[in-house]
Amino acid sequence: MRALRMRCPSCGEGRLYRSYLKPVDACSACGAPLGRVPSEDGPAWLTVLILGPFLVAVTLLVSRAPLPSWITLPGAALAVTGAVMLALPVVKAGWIGILWAMGKVGESQE
Ligand SMILES: [Zn+2]
Repeated sequence: MRALRMRCPSCGEGRLYRSYLKPVDACSACGAPLGRVPSEDGPAWLTVLILGPFLVAVTLLVSRAPLPSWITLPGAALAVTGAVMLALPVVKAGWIGILWAMGKVGESQE
């Protein structure tokens, strides 16, 4: 649940990101070493997995819309890109939270 607010998975107080998709090295509230949680590949495929049905729906909608394709195609591309951009930080925050809960905090990146 803390992931939805993009907060530290340990204490729920400190911010998780210092910028878009860049986790802080350590939580500003409790000092948890969030930068050491290995979150490399997980969030990307998880986001695709979650958004997959949404992308299919958008594609169907576009192919059936009574509008010329020069309107619907860029619109669909924008909607899909926007959805991914919005979902990715939340999915990644959830991913980091899950890894954190499992104690997967290592010195080295896997
Ligand atoms: Zn914290």
